Amino acid sequence: MKKVLSFDIGGTKIAYSIINEKGEFLNEVIKVSTPKTSSGIYDLLKTTVKGLEEEIAGVAIATAGAVNGQGTAITSHVGNLPEGYNKTDFMSLTAKPVLVENDANSAAWAEYSIGAAQGCNNAIILTLGTGVGSGIIVDGKLLKGKSGAAGEMHFPIDSGHKRVCGGCGMFDCFESFASGTGLNTNAREYMGADATSYDVIRGLKEGNHQARAAFDKWQGYLAKGLIMLANIFDPEVIVLSGSMAKFVEYDKINAEVNSQILTQPFKLKEAAFENNAGMIGAALLLIERLDHK
Ligand SMILES: [Zn+2]
Repeated sequence: MKKVLSFDIGGTKIAYSIINEKGEFLNEVIKVSTPKTSSGIYDLLKTTVKGLEEEIAGVAIATAGAVNGQGTAITSHVGNLPEGYNKTDFMSLTAKPVLVENDANSAAWAEYSIGAAQGCNNAIILTLGTGVGSGIIVDGKLLKGKSGAAGEMHFPIDSGHKRVCGGCGMFDCFESFASGTGLNTNAREYMGADATSYDVIRGLKEGNHQARAAFDKWQGYLAKGLIMLANIFDPEVIVLSGSMAKFVEYDKINAEVNSQILTQPFKLKEAAFENNAGMIGAALLLIERLDHK
Protein backbone atom coordinates (compact mmCIF):
# COMPACT_ATOMS: atom_id res chain seq x y z
CA MET A 1 0.00 0.00 0.00
CA LYS A 2 1.28 3.46 -0.94
CA LYS A 3 1.91 6.01 1.77
CA VAL A 4 3.00 9.61 1.59
CA LEU A 5 4.03 12.34 4.00
CA SER A 6 1.41 15.10 3.96
CA PHE A 7 1.73 18.66 5.31
CA ASP A 8 -0.88 21.33 5.92
CA ILE A 9 0.79 24.74 6.01
CA GLY A 10 -1.13 27.64 7.51
CA GLY A 11 -0.28 31.02 8.98
CA THR A 12 -0.26 29.82 12.59
CA LYS A 13 0.36 26.06 12.42
CA ILE A 14 1.99 23.44 10.27
CA ALA A 15 0.52 19.94 10.65
CA TYR A 16 1.83 16.72 9.15
CA SER A 17 1.34 12.98 9.14
CA ILE A 18 1.80 9.91 6.98
CA ILE A 19 -1.33 8.99 5.02
CA ASN A 20 -2.14 5.94 2.88
CA GLU A 21 -4.15 5.59 -0.35
CA LYS A 22 -7.37 5.15 1.60
CA GLY A 23 -6.85 8.52 3.24
CA GLU A 24 -6.06 6.91 6.61
CA PHE A 25 -3.57 8.45 9.03
CA LEU A 26 -0.79 5.99 9.79
CA ASN A 27 0.51 7.99 12.73
CA GLU A 28 -0.51 10.82 14.98
CA VAL A 29 -0.92 14.24 13.37
CA ILE A 30 1.96 16.42 14.58
CA LYS A 31 1.35 20.16 14.86
CA VAL A 32 4.02 22.82 15.23
CA SER A 33 3.86 26.61 15.23
CA THR A 34 4.65 28.08 11.82
CA PRO A 35 8.20 29.47 11.82
CA LYS A 36 8.45 33.27 11.52
CA THR A 37 10.58 33.26 8.35
CA SER A 38 10.23 31.53 4.99
CA SER A 39 13.67 29.93 5.38
CA GLY A 40 12.56 28.64 8.79
CA ILE A 41 9.55 27.01 7.15
CA TYR A 42 11.69 25.45 4.42
CA ASP A 43 14.17 24.09 6.98
CA LEU A 44 11.35 22.57 9.03
CA LEU A 45 9.90 20.85 5.94
CA LYS A 46 13.31 19.64 4.79
CA THR A 47 14.26 18.20 8.17
CA THR A 48 10.90 16.46 8.57
CA VAL A 49 11.05 14.98 5.06
CA LYS A 50 14.61 13.78 5.60
CA GLY A 51 13.65 11.90 8.76
CA LEU A 52 10.84 9.99 7.04
CA GLU A 53 12.10 9.77 3.45
CA GLU A 54 12.85 6.03 3.56
CA GLU A 55 9.26 5.01 4.32
CA ILE A 56 7.30 7.30 1.98
CA ALA A 57 6.52 7.37 -1.76
CA GLY A 58 6.35 11.17 -1.91
CA VAL A 59 5.47 14.44 -0.22
CA ALA A 60 2.06 16.17 -0.40
CA ILE A 61 1.60 19.77 0.67
CA ALA A 62 -1.69 21.58 1.30
CA THR A 63 -0.94 25.27 1.64
CA ALA A 64 -2.56 28.66 1.95
CA GLY A 65 -2.31 30.60 -1.34
CA ALA A 66 -3.07 29.81 -4.97
CA VAL A 67 -1.05 26.99 -6.55
CA ASN A 68 -0.25 26.47 -10.26
CA GLY A 69 -1.86 23.77 -12.38
CA GLN A 70 1.19 21.50 -12.25
CA GLY A 71 1.06 21.41 -8.44
CA THR A 72 4.62 22.63 -8.12
CA ALA A 73 4.58 26.25 -6.88
CA ILE A 74 2.53 29.03 -5.32
CA THR A 75 1.36 31.72 -7.76
CA SER A 76 -0.09 34.30 -5.36
CA HIS A 77 0.97 36.36 -2.39
CA VAL A 78 0.16 34.61 0.88
CA GLY A 79 -0.60 37.36 3.34
CA ASN A 80 -0.71 35.33 6.54
CA LEU A 81 2.65 33.61 5.96
CA PRO A 82 6.13 35.20 6.09
CA GLU A 83 7.51 37.24 3.21
CA GLY A 84 9.16 35.06 0.62
CA TYR A 85 7.17 31.94 1.53
CA ASN A 86 5.35 32.07 -1.81
CA LYS A 87 8.72 31.59 -3.55
CA THR A 88 9.46 28.36 -1.63
CA ASP A 89 11.09 25.71 -3.83
CA PHE A 90 8.98 22.74 -2.69
CA MET A 91 10.34 20.50 -5.45
CA SER A 92 13.82 20.57 -3.89
CA LEU A 93 12.62 19.04 -0.61
CA THR A 94 13.27 15.52 -1.86
CA ALA A 95 14.10 13.57 -5.02
CA LYS A 96 10.76 11.74 -4.58
CA PRO A 97 7.56 13.14 -6.13
CA VAL A 98 6.20 16.30 -4.47
CA LEU A 99 2.73 17.72 -5.03
CA VAL A 100 1.50 21.11 -3.79
CA GLU A 101 -2.15 22.16 -3.74
CA ASN A 102 -4.15 24.98 -2.20
CA ASP A 103 -5.58 23.99 1.20
CA ALA A 104 -9.25 24.62 0.31
CA ASN A 105 -8.84 22.68 -2.94
CA SER A 106 -7.15 19.86 -1.03
CA ALA A 107 -9.99 19.73 1.49
CA ALA A 108 -12.49 19.69 -1.37
CA TRP A 109 -10.64 16.75 -2.94
CA ALA A 110 -10.85 14.84 0.35
CA GLU A 111 -14.62 15.38 0.51
CA TYR A 112 -14.94 14.38 -3.16
CA SER A 113 -12.76 11.27 -2.84
CA ILE A 114 -13.90 9.76 0.44
CA GLY A 115 -16.18 12.28 2.19
CA ALA A 116 -19.55 14.01 1.83
CA ALA A 117 -19.22 14.60 -1.93
CA GLN A 118 -18.09 11.06 -2.77
CA GLY A 119 -19.48 9.90 -6.11
CA CYS A 120 -20.52 13.44 -7.13
CA ASN A 121 -18.48 14.60 -10.13
CA ASN A 122 -19.82 18.12 -9.80
CA ALA A 123 -19.49 19.45 -6.29
CA ILE A 124 -18.72 22.66 -4.44
CA ILE A 125 -17.10 22.63 -1.01
CA LEU A 126 -17.56 25.93 0.81
CA THR A 127 -15.51 26.57 3.94
CA LEU A 128 -17.27 28.96 6.30
CA GLY A 129 -14.76 30.31 8.81
CA THR A 130 -13.33 33.77 9.41
CA GLY A 131 -13.68 34.14 5.64
CA VAL A 132 -15.27 31.94 2.99
CA GLY A 133 -13.07 29.54 1.02
CA SER A 134 -13.99 27.07 -1.66
CA GLY A 135 -12.94 24.16 -3.77
CA ILE A 136 -14.95 23.40 -6.89
CA ILE A 137 -15.07 20.01 -8.64
CA VAL A 138 -16.23 20.14 -12.27
CA ASP A 139 -16.67 16.87 -14.17
CA GLY A 140 -14.45 15.07 -11.65
CA LYS A 141 -11.62 17.60 -11.73
CA LEU A 142 -10.59 20.47 -9.50
CA LEU A 143 -11.43 23.79 -11.11
CA LYS A 144 -8.11 25.66 -11.06
CA GLY A 145 -8.29 28.62 -13.46
CA LYS A 146 -5.27 30.14 -15.21
CA SER A 147 -3.35 30.85 -12.00
CA GLY A 148 -4.88 28.35 -9.59
CA ALA A 149 -7.04 30.98 -7.93
CA ALA A 150 -10.49 29.92 -9.22
CA GLY A 151 -13.27 29.77 -6.67
CA GLU A 152 -12.65 33.01 -4.82
CA MET A 153 -15.98 33.63 -3.12
CA HIS A 154 -15.90 37.39 -3.55
CA PHE A 155 -18.89 38.68 -5.48
CA PRO A 156 -21.44 41.37 -4.61
CA ILE A 157 -24.48 39.92 -2.88
CA ASP A 158 -26.20 43.03 -1.55
CA SER A 159 -26.00 46.77 -2.09
CA GLY A 160 -27.82 48.16 0.91
CA HIS A 161 -25.56 47.57 3.89
CA LYS A 162 -22.27 49.14 2.83
CA ARG A 163 -20.18 46.53 4.58
CA VAL A 164 -16.57 46.53 3.44
CA CYS A 165 -15.16 43.06 2.81
CA GLY A 166 -11.92 42.37 4.69
CA GLY A 167 -10.81 40.02 1.91
CA CYS A 168 -11.34 42.05 -1.27
CA GLY A 169 -12.25 45.54 -0.12
CA MET A 170 -15.55 45.64 -2.06
CA PHE A 171 -18.80 46.74 -0.53
CA ASP A 172 -21.31 44.03 0.39
CA CYS A 173 -19.40 41.01 -0.83
CA PHE A 174 -20.71 37.46 -0.20
CA GLU A 175 -17.84 36.77 2.21
CA SER A 176 -18.74 39.70 4.45
CA PHE A 177 -22.22 38.20 4.99
CA ALA A 178 -21.78 34.41 4.88
CA SER A 179 -18.56 34.09 6.94
CA GLY A 180 -18.19 33.86 10.71
CA THR A 181 -17.08 37.48 10.50
CA GLY A 182 -20.44 38.23 8.89
CA LEU A 183 -22.32 36.61 11.76
CA ASN A 184 -20.20 38.63 14.21
CA THR A 185 -21.22 41.81 12.39
CA ASN A 186 -24.88 40.76 12.63
CA ALA A 187 -24.42 40.05 16.35
CA ARG A 188 -23.27 43.63 16.91
CA GLU A 189 -26.09 45.02 14.78
CA TYR A 190 -28.85 43.07 16.52
CA MET A 191 -27.57 42.29 20.02
CA GLY A 192 -25.26 45.14 21.00
CA ALA A 193 -21.73 46.42 20.49
CA ASP A 194 -20.05 43.65 22.49
CA ALA A 195 -22.03 40.74 21.07
CA THR A 196 -20.35 38.03 18.99
CA SER A 197 -21.40 34.99 16.97
CA TYR A 198 -21.19 32.95 20.19
CA ASP A 199 -23.97 35.09 21.68
CA VAL A 200 -26.05 34.51 18.56
CA ILE A 201 -25.69 30.73 18.75
CA ARG A 202 -26.38 30.67 22.49
CA GLY A 203 -29.33 33.05 22.05
CA LEU A 204 -30.81 30.84 19.33
CA LYS A 205 -30.98 27.91 21.74
CA GLU A 206 -32.64 30.13 24.35
CA GLY A 207 -35.26 31.43 21.90
CA ASN A 208 -33.89 34.99 21.86
CA HIS A 209 -35.56 36.99 19.05
CA GLN A 210 -32.58 39.25 18.32
CA ALA A 211 -30.34 36.23 18.07
CA ARG A 212 -32.81 34.60 15.67
CA ALA A 213 -32.88 37.75 13.52
CA ALA A 214 -29.07 37.95 13.43
CA PHE A 215 -28.80 34.26 12.55
CA ASP A 216 -31.54 34.37 9.89
CA LYS A 217 -29.81 37.26 8.19
CA TRP A 218 -26.52 35.32 8.09
CA GLN A 219 -28.18 32.14 6.84
CA GLY A 220 -30.34 34.06 4.37
CA TYR A 221 -27.32 35.57 2.66
CA LEU A 222 -25.59 32.21 2.66
CA ALA A 223 -28.67 30.85 0.86
CA LYS A 224 -28.51 33.65 -1.74
CA GLY A 225 -24.92 32.72 -2.50
CA LEU A 226 -25.85 29.03 -2.74
CA ILE A 227 -28.57 29.84 -5.30
CA MET A 228 -26.03 31.72 -7.41
CA LEU A 229 -23.46 28.91 -7.19
CA ALA A 230 -26.05 26.22 -7.99
CA ASN A 231 -27.26 28.14 -11.04
CA ILE A 232 -23.74 28.70 -12.35
CA PHE A 233 -22.16 25.30 -11.64
CA ASP A 234 -25.14 22.89 -11.59
CA PRO A 235 -23.59 20.73 -8.84
CA GLU A 236 -24.93 17.48 -7.40
CA VAL A 237 -23.89 18.55 -3.94
CA ILE A 238 -22.71 21.63 -2.07
CA VAL A 239 -20.78 20.68 1.06
CA LEU A 240 -20.32 23.15 3.91
CA SER A 241 -17.23 22.88 6.09
CA GLY A 242 -15.41 25.09 8.57
CA SER A 243 -16.34 26.34 12.02
CA MET A 244 -19.72 27.74 10.97
CA ALA A 245 -20.99 24.70 9.02
CA LYS A 246 -22.47 22.95 12.03
CA PHE A 247 -24.89 25.81 12.72
CA VAL A 248 -26.65 25.72 9.34
CA GLU A 249 -30.26 24.45 9.31
CA TYR A 250 -29.73 21.96 6.49
CA ASP A 251 -33.31 20.74 5.90
CA LYS A 252 -34.69 24.25 5.79
CA ILE A 253 -31.98 25.69 3.52
CA ASN A 254 -32.01 22.65 1.23
CA ALA A 255 -35.74 23.20 0.62
CA GLU A 256 -35.50 26.96 0.37
CA VAL A 257 -32.58 27.07 -2.05
CA ASN A 258 -33.76 24.20 -4.24
CA SER A 259 -37.14 25.91 -4.71
CA GLN A 260 -35.40 28.94 -6.23
CA ILE A 261 -32.80 27.51 -8.60
CA LEU A 262 -33.15 27.00 -12.35
CA THR A 263 -31.01 23.85 -12.45
CA GLN A 264 -31.96 20.39 -11.18
CA PRO A 265 -32.04 20.03 -7.37
CA PHE A 266 -28.79 19.52 -5.49
CA LYS A 267 -28.09 18.35 -1.94
CA LEU A 268 -26.69 20.65 0.72
CA LYS A 269 -24.59 18.64 3.18
CA GLU A 270 -22.22 19.10 6.09
CA ALA A 271 -18.58 18.09 5.51
CA ALA A 272 -17.38 14.65 6.62
CA PHE A 273 -13.98 15.95 7.76
CA GLU A 274 -13.04 18.71 10.13
CA ASN A 275 -9.48 19.93 10.52
CA ASN A 276 -7.44 17.37 8.62
CA ALA A 277 -9.21 17.40 5.26
CA GLY A 278 -6.43 19.43 3.61
CA MET A 279 -3.77 16.87 4.49
CA ILE A 280 -5.96 13.96 3.35
CA GLY A 281 -6.88 15.61 0.05
CA ALA A 282 -3.32 16.59 -0.85
CA ALA A 283 -2.15 13.04 -0.04
CA LEU A 284 -4.86 11.48 -2.23
CA LEU A 285 -4.07 13.86 -5.12
CA LEU A 286 -0.41 12.84 -4.94
CA ILE A 287 -1.14 9.11 -4.70
CA GLU A 288 -3.49 9.37 -7.69
CA ARG A 289 -0.68 11.00 -9.66
CA LEU A 290 1.78 8.26 -8.59
CA ASP A 291 -0.71 5.62 -9.75
CA HIS A 292 -0.89 7.15 -13.23
CA LYS A 293 2.83 7.13 -13.78
ZN1 LIG B 1 -14.84 40.13 -0.71
